[in-house]
Amino acid sequence: MQPFAERVHSLNGGGLKRRAIDVLQVNLGRYCNLACIHCHVEAGPARKEMMSRENVDAVLRFLGATGIATLDVTGGAPELHPAFDYLVESARGLGRQVLDRCNLTVFFEPGKNYLPEFFRRHRVELVCSLPCYTSDNVDKQRGKGTFDASIRALQILNGLGYGRPESGLVLNLVYNPVGPHLPPPQEKLEQDYKRTLQDEFGVVFNRLFCLTNMPITRYATHLKLCREYEPYMELLASSFNPATVDHVMCRNSISVGWDGGIYDCDFNQMLNLPLTGADGEGLTIASLTLDQIAHRPIRCADHCYACTAGSGSSCGGTLV
Ligand code: SF4
Ligand code: SF4
Repeated sequence: MQPFAERVHSLNGGGLKRRAIDVLQVNLGRYCNLACIHCHVEAGPARKEMMSRENVDAVLRFLGATGIATLDVTGGAPELHPAFDYLVESARGLGRQVLDRCNLTVFFEPGKNYLPEFFRRHRVELVCSLPCYTSDNVDKQRGKGTFDASIRALQILNGLGYGRPESGLVLNLVYNPVGPHLPPPQEKLEQDYKRTLQDEFGVVFNRLFCLTNMPITRYATHLKLCREYEPYMELLASSFNPATVDHVMCRNSISVGWDGGIYDCDFNQMLNLPLTGADGEGLTIASLTLDQIAHRPIRCADHCYACTAGSGSSCGGTLV
């Protein structure tokens, strides 16, 4: 397999080139009420890592000092962080769009049933994982009972106007393959999701994002145990699509770790590939400037093939 960095270099004579940053993705921690097989964060109920209040304030200071339009909040289950509401309200107060990556089942955790109305009030855009429209596949990947809880949560959101075009309350769903293969074409799958969820559960949503599973951390371990890691990497590399390179999400977004470290993306964060300053020290949100980021190269490696295989993949779905 040709190394990813070499492949991109032979394509454009450089590497992945940064553009202006318009999305700040913040990982509030690894704690989650679920423990999904494909989770690249290796999140779960036993994880304790959480962003400190000081770093939450540093995120808000950085947002306030820059023109970055979108705060993208992720985890774990970010809503289980004690400063989640504060972060959302403050970022909205700064006039920023807030996007929450929600696993839906979190609404049924103790004391969290206020979340749907909180989201509506602050017009938070929701990106919700639902890896299939059948109960068997979802429960296999995310745990027993997850599908039914997710459908109930979607019905609650629809009741508030989410997913209905006229409301402006955006509800997007995320699909990722159950097995080690590339996602099918996004538009066709979106039609299938819309038809099935509407017919069977009366659920509506705006868009479906198809994501390719990232062969790192927990999912890499799972693939290795099943002897599927090498074939999956070969599949990703042999499906490399040069047209996706201009659109990978690390070109216009950065990721903040729960400990305040700065990364090109959530995946590099999990692989401990931080962005460092000219002095070799890791950049941190406490003292970050946009100028520092602009001059640092994007740290790509072979896992980046998951972003550039087939139609490409990012937190916003297919790239081309
Ligand atoms: S819900 Fe999301 S963060 Fe939580 S374990 Fe599943 S994939 Fe990971
Ligand atoms: S894994 Fe991260 S650094 Fe690599 S292409 Fe994808 S977004 Fe960019």
